[in-house]
Amino acid sequence: MSCIFCDIIEGNIKSERVYEDENCIIIKDIEPIAPIHYLMIPKKHYSKLEEASVSEAMELSFMLNKLGQMKKELGLEEGYRIIINQGKNAGQTVDHLHIHVLAGKELNWQV
Ligand code: AMP
Ligand code: ZN
Repeated sequence: MSCIFCDIIEGNIKSERVYEDENCIIIKDIEPIAPIHYLMIPKKHYSKLEEASVSEAMELSFMLNKLGQMKKELGLEEGYRIIINQGKNAGQTVDHLHIHVLAGKELNWQV
């Protein structure tokens, strides 16, 4: 099964990586919708929140905490929004769970 984010994690597809640890990478989204648009991607492949094992769910929680701790380095001091698209109606196009991180301006709240 091919997965673009697994390929990015393995280094087979190039990306602008801004952070990496044992659990996740953070890359710049190739089609940004805000001045700052990162994707925080767990290294383990699963598509939906409910598919995560207990340890993967805990890793996800640590990742979000880590993101908050890296606000300054990532230019998120003025605030940021995290979004996880899940399924068709949410517009999920890549079946490898990822967290959009949007920042860099005052974001509006329309869908
Ligand atoms: P989603 O629609 O929530 O599944 O988000 C997938 C995101 O991945 C989109 O915002 C795309 O712009 C982004 N994306 C797709 N391919 C790449 C890539 N090669 N490098 C960086 N971002 C990508
Ligand atoms: Zn994957």
